[in-house]
Amino acid sequence: MNTTHTILTGDRPTGQLHLGHFVGSLRQRVQLQQEHQQFILIADLQGLTDNGSNPQKISHNILEVMADYLAVGIDPSRTTICLQSALPALAELTALYMNIVTVARVERNPTVKNEIAQKGFSRALPVGFMAYPISQAADITAFNADLVPVGDDQLPMIEQTNEIVHKMNSLTSTPVLRHCKAQLSDVSRLPGIDGGAKMSKSLGNTLTLSASEADIHQAVSAMYTDPNHLRVTDPGQIEGNIVFTYLDAFHPDKTLVAEMKAHYQRGGLGDRQCKNVLEACLQELLAPIRERRATFIQDKGQLMAMLREGSERAHTLTQQTLHTVKRGLGLPVLF
Ligand code: ATP
Ligand code: MG
Repeated sequence: MNTTHTILTGDRPTGQLHLGHFVGSLRQRVQLQQEHQQFILIADLQGLTDNGSNPQKISHNILEVMADYLAVGIDPSRTTICLQSALPALAELTALYMNIVTVARVERNPTVKNEIAQKGFSRALPVGFMAYPISQAADITAFNADLVPVGDDQLPMIEQTNEIVHKMNSLTSTPVLRHCKAQLSDVSRLPGIDGGAKMSKSLGNTLTLSASEADIHQAVSAMYTDPNHLRVTDPGQIEGNIVFTYLDAFHPDKTLVAEMKAHYQRGGLGDRQCKNVLEACLQELLAPIRERRATFIQDKGQLMAMLREGSERAHTLTQQTLHTVKRGLGLPVLF
């Protein structure tokens, strides 16, 4: 028997969504909305934690991300799409949770550690950035989510969320928060087009969902393959060969990809041929998404109206959770 889950996922509006989001999360969300109650949060407050001096970047990208969602097939009549900054309960829950998480615990979070190093904050590390895993716990629990589809960089956040749930429930006479589980996709960390660790808006190694035909062609042409595969007849290496990583992630015909791999390994299959197959499959995937996106982004009024409607629904629900938590802690709920 199928269980219905309550799902929360989200994205920081730090730029347009890219192929990493598509395979890491968006593709799943389109499926999950058929069977489950799904909420998607445009996490503008979290986006500001490392863009505090550039708020326009975040505000500009809110509707860009909204257009991306609609273009890939997220349906606002099945999925509630909402805006983090419009939901004060999330900030209030964050403030409450901050008191039960130690600084040492936040510092231990491997994703945060890695991002701090990558972003080169050094002594200019914003307090808000350090605390973003706590705010993410507030987001997940406010929606009563029990399932969180994410990329693997988010696993430490889910672990930390469950610790907060456990701690909070131990402070109240009856449990007030729900535990959650991460759901990883088949491709939980797509490398950047430069072969780097993770495709990420902040690293500038992305192919966005609105990438033009020429962008796609250029990105695939520039991809590194096996540097020792000098002649077509030479045996080639699959491991670390980004063209095959992408073929695995995107090509619908797994048998064909398996055959190509075997052929490449024994020699006789050229890099250009492999790239042609990859490029054709990415062009086919992105063409209809790009077209739909171009239509949606033209009507920003309609996008904003959809976001408002979803946020209203989310507001009611998240306020309820906040009130439950406050009552649990013995704080008066005055209004
Ligand atoms: P930023 O660089 O601003 O952090 P991002 O590209 O990492 O942006 P997020 O908005 O932080 O994107 O991530 C949203 C969701 O997409 C998360 O669940 C994350 O795990 C997933 N995701 C992001 N990049 C990838 C990727 N390259 N592969 C798989 N999943 C990804
Ligand atoms: Mg990120």
